[in-house]
Amino acid sequence: MTKGLLLVLSGPSGVGKGTLCNRLRALSPELVYSVSATTRKPREGEIDGVNYFFKTHEQFRAMIEAGELLEWAEYVGNYYGTPKSFVQQTIDQGKDIILEIDVQGAMQVKERFPEAIFIFVLPPSLEELQKRIVGRGTESESSIRSRMAAAAEELKLMEHYDYAVVNDVLETACNRVQSIIAAEHCKRERL
Ligand code: 5GP
Repeated sequence: MTKGLLLVLSGPSGVGKGTLCNRLRALSPELVYSVSATTRKPREGEIDGVNYFFKTHEQFRAMIEAGELLEWAEYVGNYYGTPKSFVQQTIDQGKDIILEIDVQGAMQVKERFPEAIFIFVLPPSLEELQKRIVGRGTESESSIRSRMAAAAEELKLMEHYDYAVVNDVLETACNRVQSIIAAEHCKRERL
């Protein structure tokens, strides 16, 4: 059976990756989403097992030691990681899966799955990014500062990605990601 695509969507916190993924989910219900594990506390409205698997530091460490994570990274004081077996099962079943992860994690995936497709989501500008993080109303001042500093570092790694998509108008960004997925399928038809 043809394997599914492993799609990695990264980009600075606040760029709207979550909103983009939710819209893609609505438009392409056949796409599977990987639910990450994190030590971050749930935000209001976030559900365990849906948005994230919320873990203690000890539980997260145990997952690392048991080799259960495909990649993991520390981001602004918390750990985030992708459970490996779900990703493997999904692609083995011929279904496409999207990982919405930070750049450090994406670089680890690149080492393990060089055939994965890497998409970098860009803000229209850094000023707009800051506005979006502040506008979310969920982050403290220090978290906003750390996230903006992380964004500057993350942008430097964009050259390692296959595609860049500016998330200005949501529908346009969504269409672009769908076009990338369609093009990657066409590429594989040739093989
Ligand atoms: P947030 O706290 O805003 O939900 O996420 C912070 C950052 O962690 C975002 O850039 C998000 O994409 C990233 N992230 C979420 N899940 C994972 C994961 O499993 N692995 C890695 N490396 N980063 C993740």
